[in-house]
Amino acid sequence: MAEKELYDCIIVGAGPGGLQAAIYLGRYNRKVLIIDRGGGRTAHAKHIENVLTQPVISGKEIIRLGKEQAANFGVSIVTGVVTSISKAGGLFEVSTDETKYSGSFVIVSTGGKENIPDIGNIYRFFASSVVTCIDCDGYLFTGRKSLIIGNSIKSANLAMGMREMFSKDMTLVLCTDKLPEDYKEELKDEGIRLVIGRPKLFHGDSTVESLEMQDGTLIPCEMVMSHFGFKLNDKFLAGLGLKKESDNRTYSVNRHFESSLSGLYLTGPLCGHDQVVIAAGEGAIAALDIKKRLLEL
Ligand SMILES: Cc1cc2nc3c(=O)[nH]c(=O)nc-3n(C[C@H](O)[C@H](O)[C@H](O)COP(=O)(O)OP(=O)(O)OC[C@H]3O[C@@H](n4cnc5c(N)ncnc54)[C@H](O)[C@@H]3O)c2cc1C
Repeated sequence: MAEKELYDCIIVGAGPGGLQAAIYLGRYNRKVLIIDRGGGRTAHAKHIENVLTQPVISGKEIIRLGKEQAANFGVSIVTGVVTSISKAGGLFEVSTDETKYSGSFVIVSTGGKENIPDIGNIYRFFASSVVTCIDCDGYLFTGRKSLIIGNSIKSANLAMGMREMFSKDMTLVLCTDKLPEDYKEELKDEGIRLVIGRPKLFHGDSTVESLEMQDGTLIPCEMVMSHFGFKLNDKFLAGLGLKKESDNRTYSVNRHFESSLSGLYLTGPLCGHDQVVIAAGEGAIAALDIKKRLLEL
C-alpha cells in the first residue's frame, strides 16, 4: 500500500454535500482531497427542479459542474471506495483498497442507496415516472393518476399527504396486510383506493401506464411513488463507535455537523437530511468550522 501526503481535509463522497464543502475549503487555499466511487443518489436524479437558480437540472450535471468548480480551486479528486477510517495521534487515516490517505479533518458525505422493490421493468421508468421521494418529486404527481407502493403505515400516511397536496386520483398498493382497520377506514374516507397484494410488472412505453399485480389485476397509473426507503452508505464507519440518534440509523452531529468523534463531520442523509440544497448547506457549515479549527491549529 502506498503512503500518501497529509491533507488538511479529506472528503469522502462527491455528492452535493462533499462538493460544496470542497469548494469552500479550496477557496481557503487548503489542501483538500475528495475520494469518490462514482454513482450516488444525486447522479441518479434526472429531473431536479427545487435548486435555487436552476429551473431544471439533472443530478449528473450538478455533480459534473460541482467537480469542475472544486477542481478550479485546487481540490484533488480521486476515484476509489473508502473501506475504513481511523484516528490516531490527532490524524485521520482514510483507506481504500489501494491507498491510505492522511488528513487533519474528514467530512463524510456518502449518502445512501435506494431500496428498489423487485418489480419487472422498474429500472426502465426509475427516476422518471417511478420515483422515491415526496420532497423531490411529489410535485410531478399534480393532477396525475397516482400510485404509491409500500409496505407500512408510513406509506398510508404518505398517500394521505400526497392526496392533499398533489392528486385526488390516488391508489395505494401495500405488499403486506399490516394496516390497522382504522387506517383502512380513513383511506376510504379520503377516497384513496387500497390494494393489498404483490406487484409484478410495470407496463408502458416511455412513461408508465399501469402496474400488473401477481394476481393479474391491472392498476392504471401515470406516476408511481416507490416507498421503500434507502440504506445509508456507512459500512466503513462501523469501527468508529459514532453516536447515533434514537432512530438507531442516523448519526448525532452538533450544529457544525461534527460527529461524536472530534474532527469527523457528516452531512446529508447520514445525519437525516435528504435534499440537494440541504446536503450542500451542511457541507458549507462543516467547511466553515474546519476553516476556523485549521487556523487555531
Ligand atoms: C431518483 C432521485 C431523485 C432525487 N431528486 C431530488 C430532487 O429533485 N431534489 C433534491 O433536493 N434531492 C433529490 N434527491 C435526493 C438527493 O439526491 C440527496 O439529497 C443527495 O444525494 C444527498 O447528497 P449527498 O452528497 O449526501 O449524497 P450523494 O449525492 O448520494 O453522493 C454520495 C457520493 O458518495 C459516494 N460514495 C458512497 N460510498 C462511498 C465510499 N465508501 N467511498 C467513496 N465514495 C462513496 C457515492 O458514490 C456518491 O458519489 C433525489 C434522489 C434520488 C435517488
